[in-house]
Amino acid sequence: MQNTFHKTKKYFKITPNLLSYDTVYKSFDWKRADYHLDWFPENKINAAYNAIDRHLNTFRKNKVALYWLGDNDQKQTYTFEDLSNLSNQLANYLKSLGVARGDRVFLFLPRIPYLYISFLGILKIGAVAGTLFSAFQEQALLDRLINSQAKVVITDSTLGTRIKNIKGKLPHLEKIILVDDSTFLQKLSTFSTKTHIAHMDKEDYAFMLYTSGTTGKPKGVVHQHLAILQEHLTAKYVLDLKDEDTYWCTADPGWVTGIAYEILGSWSNGVTAIVYSGRFDPATWYKILQDYKVTIWYTAPTAIRMLMGAGDDLVKKYNLSHLRHLCSVGEPLNPEAIRWGLKVFGLPFHDNWWQTETGAICIANYPCLDIKFGSMGKPVPGVIANIVDDEGNELPVGKEGNLALKKGWPSMMKTIWHRHIKYESYFIKDWYLSGDHAYKDKDGYFWFVGRADDVIKTSGERVGPFEVESALVEHPSVVEAGVIGKPDKLRGEIIKAFIVLKPEYQKKVSLSHLRGGEATETQTTPGVARLPAGRQGRDSPGVKESVKTYSEHLKEELSLYVKKNLAGHAYPREIEFIDRLPKTRSGKIMRRILKAKEMGLPIGDTSTLEEY
Ligand code: ATP
Ligand code: MG
Repeated sequence: MQNTFHKTKKYFKITPNLLSYDTVYKSFDWKRADYHLDWFPENKINAAYNAIDRHLNTFRKNKVALYWLGDNDQKQTYTFEDLSNLSNQLANYLKSLGVARGDRVFLFLPRIPYLYISFLGILKIGAVAGTLFSAFQEQALLDRLINSQAKVVITDSTLGTRIKNIKGKLPHLEKIILVDDSTFLQKLSTFSTKTHIAHMDKEDYAFMLYTSGTTGKPKGVVHQHLAILQEHLTAKYVLDLKDEDTYWCTADPGWVTGIAYEILGSWSNGVTAIVYSGRFDPATWYKILQDYKVTIWYTAPTAIRMLMGAGDDLVKKYNLSHLRHLCSVGEPLNPEAIRWGLKVFGLPFHDNWWQTETGAICIANYPCLDIKFGSMGKPVPGVIANIVDDEGNELPVGKEGNLALKKGWPSMMKTIWHRHIKYESYFIKDWYLSGDHAYKDKDGYFWFVGRADDVIKTSGERVGPFEVESALVEHPSVVEAGVIGKPDKLRGEIIKAFIVLKPEYQKKVSLSHLRGGEATETQTTPGVARLPAGRQGRDSPGVKESVKTYSEHLKEELSLYVKKNLAGHAYPREIEFIDRLPKTRSGKIMRRILKAKEMGLPIGDTSTLEEY
């Protein structure tokens, strides 16, 4: 099975922006990187100016910055100048309301153009933009708006009802703006399309947002204007954005990826971006990639697994030959997903790692480097990453421990809003501890093991849920898997896997429960559980207790499969087939919910949980 992708000369359709990783990494110094941005006198800066307005002095002025696509074939096109003018108007409007530097203005909008325009307008007056995922319900909104003490919320008439319902509990909230209200639009048009863009210190707060809540209560992470420096450089080096590219990042700005790589770092590189505000649907996604001749695509493992689940016949119907670079973030990327990318797009997905707190990509696979399947890659130039123990001591190559970054990279969070002690708890000695466990190999590649809380200790061995999930996903019957450690008297923990099967297998499993061995008749895929001919399942009327159902056979086969392909101790002793895995709205598997349910414990904060 292929486990490495070597980049031969033939691979490069275009010379990548980062040609030699080692040379650049060794000589890189943030102090000499300022020239990538435009500065105001006295070392002042504004991230929104760098994303948009600086292009107005160049050939990009009339270049398309945004193709916005909605449901029902809605389309809108904005040039860099359009985005500049509209965000200036928005900035002037906010000023007229008395919004000042440092005030928090929150956006509670679907992915419509005003989300992007407003974000930029807020930064332009030196206020702090906060984003809220549009599916949040009242309690989730309340928690975040109380914590951030937002002065203004920009929303629309549908979502705005939720804000109005809780307004009485928000003493700091002065104004709710509805962007689809005709009086707002009329009022906005009376403001000038020019504005004075606030000259900010590098460390001044620019935006804040709450973490995904995968492991617990979401944290209000605050970022400075200088974050755009790293967002810009990583968009250049990792995403490889160039002027001629059409770029599609599928994230929502309710999460950090949608801010750093759909607004700031991507537009600061002058790229034409696509925003699709509709629901996930494999055929629609392929059609967008085809019709807009997307060249660079930045997405997430959960989406890739769903596309894989939709089958290869579908993807073959589209002409996706314009694609030249694929990237993935948000969760570990299963090796099988990379192999699938190579099969159907002729390109590998490049995994990269970062967090809300890190503000920009920190560890990545690059166009110029070989890919080791399952590895997050190497630290970006300017970021020093290592594996340390709980006291902050560096651990040797190959040893698993805390994934840590040397503090001081430009997009490092400034604080956790109103929880500065929590902020300080991230650091030990010179290191920022990510809360993830990983190890580094002899070539300097980093390998994700799991979130510190998710690592399983079974019979004295440590097992990362990711490797077990990846092994399971390789089996032809599996779409997705979520793996947890379940307390066990004998072994400390045993591995339990929750598995979503491909529809055809799901059907056979339910058939086997209903009608015993009937599923065997349609069973043709080689290597997949087979019931002995003539046998019937246990649930069949009048059949002996000891006879196994198709479902039990499949579970056994899956356990054996992991045992054989991964390790003797790392196989799931328990398997449960489920229809869907609990995930955050940004697509991350919430293992803590699987675990809590398994153990009958309270499931904790569910504000970011996708409808389930
Ligand atoms: P919370 O901190 O509230 O529990 P969260 O950690 O999921 O939520 P984010 O900041 O959105 O919130 O996600 C960052 C985390 O996502 C990382 O710490 C890591 O666990 C996971 N992650 C992101 N990218 C990758 C990747 N390429 N490989 C493995 N894990 C990744
Ligand atoms: Mg986190």
